[in-house]
Amino acid sequence: MSEHPSAGSEQLQVQAVVRDMVIPAGVAGPEPLMIDVRCYAVAQPAGIVIIDTGMPDAEAGIAAAVQALGGSFDDVRDIVVTHSHADHTGSLFALAEKAPLAAIYAGGSDAPNIRAPHGVTPIGEGTVIQGFEVLATPGHTAGHVCLFHSPTGTLFIADAAASERGDAIRPPELFTADALRAEESLARIAELGPARVLFSHGPELEAPAQALSRLIGSTHPPA
Ligand SMILES: [Zn+2]
Repeated sequence: MSEHPSAGSEQLQVQAVVRDMVIPAGVAGPEPLMIDVRCYAVAQPAGIVIIDTGMPDAEAGIAAAVQALGGSFDDVRDIVVTHSHADHTGSLFALAEKAPLAAIYAGGSDAPNIRAPHGVTPIGEGTVIQGFEVLATPGHTAGHVCLFHSPTGTLFIADAAASERGDAIRPPELFTADALRAEESLARIAELGPARVLFSHGPELEAPAQALSRLIGSTHPPA
């Protein structure tokens, strides 16, 4: 964080929680696959927004992220789950119990499949949560959503794409419910030309908009 932010520029106060996950041999190929799982805490004027909750081991990391933003679990107002997969919902139950003031949101088609201590509010295209626009991006799951913060051009892309070795990649087709719709969703969000993309799997890229354009121009699966 800079003490002298340039005039007119807005910075999103975001903390990433990064954990490693091993996909056993035979699930996504003959070799075990090591990938990272990322979820995010963002400080917004009306409270902290948590975007995804990682695997069941993410709770301590989320607590540390909330603390790093200068808050506590009582400051967490919104928990957005981008889709129903276990690496995004794993710590939801524990987190929601610790943050009783937080509303829980997920895409309409995925919301009924998400286990939480209280109701999951269905969201879709056009929903705005503390300045984050919800983009319905079906394909990976039917209710998959991305979040876009337009003042900073920041896209929380969830599993619409991942990053690996400095480039954007598609998530394994094995975990994608409808590859055709996923591709349509990916093309659509690439058109936003985001200045910054925060992935659920893989680190940030220096030129994410270009990486997404390259990805949609490539064949599926990549040659
Ligand atoms: Zn995932």
